[in-house]
Amino acid sequence: MWRETTLEPLRAIASLFYPSLCAICSESVERTEYLCEGCARKAPKVKPPFCAICSEPFPGAITESFSCANCSHRLLHFQSAVAAYRSRGIVRKIILDFKYGHQMHLRFPVADWLRTALDDPRLRDRRFDVVIPVPLHPARKRERGFNQAELIAELLSTQANLTMRDALERIRYTTTQTAHDRAERMENLRDAFRLRKKANVRGLRVLLIDDVLTTGSTLSECARVLKAGGAISVHAATAARA
Ligand SMILES: [Zn+2]
Ligand SMILES: [Zn+2]
Repeated sequence: MWRETTLEPLRAIASLFYPSLCAICSESVERTEYLCEGCARKAPKVKPPFCAICSEPFPGAITESFSCANCSHRLLHFQSAVAAYRSRGIVRKIILDFKYGHQMHLRFPVADWLRTALDDPRLRDRRFDVVIPVPLHPARKRERGFNQAELIAELLSTQANLTMRDALERIRYTTTQTAHDRAERMENLRDAFRLRKKANVRGLRVLLIDDVLTTGSTLSECARVLKAGGAISVHAATAARA
């Protein structure tokens, strides 16, 4: 398993010899940065009005809080799912390079986008007892080498001084979600997750983490399992929203 503690010193050493370059335009940047200012500014934000539950943005001028048709007509097990950025343009590119291009250092800008979600009024003043990443099936994690949600949850928990626990496990190797409609997605996810054997979430207020929020079905199914395990509340935050 990839460990932050073993690779991080290597990265620090490498950075002494290689200049830091913007991951998008290759302009040189400060050692602690991954994107230049110009590229960072191009990250598209989720702008209001958006659904209070799933953050889906809508065109137009709705001023009061509302929930979208997608959320009003189904039972969602999380209280809200928050993303500050859209998975478009450079945000989408960086997340894809991070996940599928084995560019693990890109977890830093992705975790920055995730952290911005915590400034949202739906999350800002809440206390969370634990940060829990959406798990990958062990076979997929082996294939990819890491769980992207776990890596960004780990960074977030350090920065926000919260405890991270890998409390969920994925027990069904589901086919990719994107090819399914909503009903099929829910069916596809049934019994896909469970609490790990020694995980105890009873009485805890959970912040559930994933990289991208698409329909919210995965987050909802994870939230259902956590609540069945006794969690008091489950809010979700993701780095981006499809
Ligand atoms: Zn740049
Ligand atoms: Zn919604």
